[in-house]
Amino acid sequence: MEIERQVTGTTRPGYTVAESENAQLKYLHGNNLEETSFLDGSGDPRYFLYIREEDKGILAVIGLSHLVESVHHYDISGEKPSYSHPLLSRANAYGNFRSYNGRSVDELMDYVNNNIRHLRFAPDREQERNCFLDVHSEYQSKTQQDLARFGDAKKLYTSEEGEPDIIPEFTDLMIPVKAGQGCIRACIYCDEKRKKFRLYPAEKIRRNIGIARDWWNKHHPHRPITHENELFINTPDILYFELLHSAEQKQGRSLGAFEERLYRTGIRGVPSAGEVVRLMREGFPGTLEEHFGKMYFFVGTPTTLEVPLSSLEDICKGVLGRPGAGANRPYIGFESLDDPTSEFLNKDETAAQKKEALDKLHKAGFPKVKIIMQLGMTGRGFYDKKGDFNDSLEAAAGSAETLAGMLGKMDNVQISVNRVLDPCHQRKIAQGMIIPFEDPEEVQEHVEVFRKTLFERWHKTDRPSVEDDYIVALENHQI
Ligand code: SF4
Repeated sequence: MEIERQVTGTTRPGYTVAESENAQLKYLHGNNLEETSFLDGSGDPRYFLYIREEDKGILAVIGLSHLVESVHHYDISGEKPSYSHPLLSRANAYGNFRSYNGRSVDELMDYVNNNIRHLRFAPDREQERNCFLDVHSEYQSKTQQDLARFGDAKKLYTSEEGEPDIIPEFTDLMIPVKAGQGCIRACIYCDEKRKKFRLYPAEKIRRNIGIARDWWNKHHPHRPITHENELFINTPDILYFELLHSAEQKQGRSLGAFEERLYRTGIRGVPSAGEVVRLMREGFPGTLEEHFGKMYFFVGTPTTLEVPLSSLEDICKGVLGRPGAGANRPYIGFESLDDPTSEFLNKDETAAQKKEALDKLHKAGFPKVKIIMQLGMTGRGFYDKKGDFNDSLEAAAGSAETLAGMLGKMDNVQISVNRVLDPCHQRKIAQGMIIPFEDPEEVQEHVEVFRKTLFERWHKTDRPSVEDDYIVALENHQI
């Protein structure tokens, strides 16, 4: 009997890549993973390593980067195996491992890696074998090498002040490249405003592309960078490049509001946003082979409204001049579509302006826009400047309803969950402006109401794509 069935009681369609007496390594395509509850329905393909021992079954989930993502225990003592509990997990590529049963992370990873070492790989799986078994001479073990890889990645997402940058959905296949830092806006919940504002010149971006490429090649020598890798342009708003570039072209005359603000920073000689995108594709040519690899970036509502449509089209088309061959996955932080809440958060654009920005992104050719919403940041409610009380649960429902009316079919919504615990909110609580949750878990009710309202109203016909693990990733990451 297949070891997969002995461990989990079932088998799913996929390839057996390697096996031994007591272990089986399978590659499962994303479509076969949806019902796997501990993967939260993530449809990305993965490797599953099943290990059968006398009294227990172990399942290790391993990403396409050949790094352990999670380890699970199955009870195989009864007639039918049953899922028991997780042993190890991590939410993202920050390396924020969590062990559940007191055994150390290294011990559990060593256990998995040692089992992989004893597998016989199928003859046509030579490249995977090399990826799974590769250990550099400077590391004693695969585990040590993997852990070093997460530590080494910090240079790709750390500010010049040593603070972490935000990367939503940081996956093991993602390669972030730092292009700038800090923000000229000042949303009350965001740390970017505290960093020194920088937009890097082309030469420095090229250098950072080289650093990111070297990091990947050092830790994945047998896995070339391909369209499966995801690129992330690490800067709070790529349109700052576009607007400052155009302000420079206009030599400081007849500037729009953001052009003016950016021009006043005194920074000069930055590439346009389209040029930044082209630098990225040229630096990672493998990401354009077969299909167009995903390239993520942040934009803001007012900057999207200020740039000409042709600038957005340029970002989307990139080097090949075809939609998607440039940067193809914009993130836009709407946070709330309740105008008093947005104003309170110092995000002073209206829901109508946010809709206009989203429509413009679709028109520019981006089929899928990722929208970030914040829940819980205003606790149970807040008092606005006029002294009126605003109920946060009602605002969450209203936001979901408004959002449902503006989303495209392919768009994706990410909910960032807050529990008003950070110092900025604590200050507002002390000033009596925010009524905090009595129990931080109260925020879950807001998440539920938001999701339910959105799903009921959204015209989307296929599976709704709403993810609320984004902030979990941020909360758990250890820098
Ligand atoms: S616009 Fe974005 S990066 Fe800038 S302060 Fe607001 S949330 Fe932070």
